[in-house]
Amino acid sequence: MSAIIVRVKGQGSVSGETVTKDDAVDTTCSECGVTADAVVSIGQGFICASCVRERLDAMSVARYQLRGSSKLPWGKLTS
Ligand SMILES: [Zn+2]
Repeated sequence: MSAIIVRVKGQGSVSGETVTKDDAVDTTCSECGVTADAVVSIGQGFICASCVRERLDAMSVARYQLRGSSKLPWGKLTS
């Protein structure tokens, strides 16, 4: 597994114990394209917190759906 790198807008990046100060660090999310306050590395790119959140939600939803129920606990989807 590659190291998790976090970039913080206007400040720099952190990879494990390595802190690199760089006020011009690029915090563009490679998924949604916004310039975020912070992004985290995934494979080739960096994604923002809301894209991470979307993926966590998708994992929860997928687990629930695969359990064989046709209804989600919070009733957001009906099919
Ligand atoms: Zn994003």
